[in-house]
Amino acid sequence: LQGILRDFDNVALRAFFARYGVETKVERGGRVFPVSDDAEKVVQALTAFLDEKGVEVRSGITVEEILVENGQIKGVRGAGQKRYLAPSVIVCTGGSSYPATGSSGDGFRFARKLGHRVITPRPALVPLKTSKEWVKELQGLALKNVEASLWIGGKKKVTEFGEMLFTHFGVSGPIILTISRQAGEALRGGEQVELRINLKPALSSEQLDIRVQRDFQKYSNKQFKNALEDLLPQSLIPVMIRLSGINPEGVVHQISREERKRLVGLLHGLPVTITETLSIETAIVTAGGIDVKEINPKTMASKRVEGLYWAGEVVDVDGITGGYNLQAAFAMGHRAGRSASDSALSLV
Ligand SMILES: Cc1cc2nc3c(=O)[nH]c(=O)nc-3n(C[C@H](O)[C@H](O)[C@H](O)COP(=O)(O)OP(=O)(O)OC[C@H]3O[C@@H](n4cnc5c(N)ncnc54)[C@H](O)[C@@H]3O)c2cc1C
Repeated sequence: LQGILRDFDNVALRAFFARYGVETKVERGGRVFPVSDDAEKVVQALTAFLDEKGVEVRSGITVEEILVENGQIKGVRGAGQKRYLAPSVIVCTGGSSYPATGSSGDGFRFARKLGHRVITPRPALVPLKTSKEWVKELQGLALKNVEASLWIGGKKKVTEFGEMLFTHFGVSGPIILTISRQAGEALRGGEQVELRINLKPALSSEQLDIRVQRDFQKYSNKQFKNALEDLLPQSLIPVMIRLSGINPEGVVHQISREERKRLVGLLHGLPVTITETLSIETAIVTAGGIDVKEINPKTMASKRVEGLYWAGEVVDVDGITGGYNLQAAFAMGHRAGRSASDSALSLV
């Protein structure tokens, strides 16, 4: 679907919204928002576009079935047996994530019934759970400018730099969500998954060791438990002390070189064993969906049912955080909309 994604790209999308009164701004990490920071303005722009084109919108109807006869689309059936006949139908029902927003996986059910192959839906961009009890003590602690590395089966696979958050069940936040897809795949494959959090990624091991030595000199006559406040957030100190195995009551100048090196190692790679992802309902995006091999890459048309089109998260396309999922949904929707209307008008 790369052609479709390229054809209606982020520049085209921003130009579209600007035409309908939504100026956009670019924030940290290249993320784009309305200047007004008001999502309602996005809805108003889309509604204005539909009004301008004379589109009749019927909302609040749950579609229960896609109607097909002899391989040709006939329309849809809503709740209460009401049929809505149409020469083209676009299914853009989203994934299975955040069902409270309406995306409860209906598109996957429709697809299976119509004989489409559905790549198993699974959570992507999802928080991760850990078996480590100490994580609970850090609940609510947000870390900035840290590095999280994903280790699968004892091998480092990927490292992300940025912000993360400790929760009562494990870890979340932007860099964790980005890593989560790969972590989830590995867990489902029965592999050992571990995160190592580098709390001081700007410093090399040597630099960090010098930094720790400086702090130890400053607090040389204090107890170890009172010597880390320049280095770490308060809530992390008791946890790091326990994990380091250094006597918290011991005087700092009595800490051995080996103990100090152990602390440095921990600061550069705090290990968090990952046991599972949170459920698909809590994932920001659903990975999996309608197999792209069964979709015409020029039109978004189904290769199985004449007059049927797929668009958005229901399709087996998902991206990392940063707006890629919305952009992909807009691009697919743009192409599916054009193709479906061209096809319907050609029958008139
Ligand atoms: C909390 C959260 C934050 C996110 N943040 C970002 C972000 O910052 N950047 C980004 O790129 N992506 C983000 N996403 C993902 C992004 O919102 C989705 O990928 C995108 O909205 C998918 O668009 P869609 O139109 O395919 O599906 P959806 O937006 O899920 O829309 C599907 C629609 O279909 C309707 N529907 C479903 N079944 C039926 C039925 N049977 N009958 C009638 N209607 C039905 C639903 O009510 C819903 O209105 C976020 C998602 C969540 C949950």
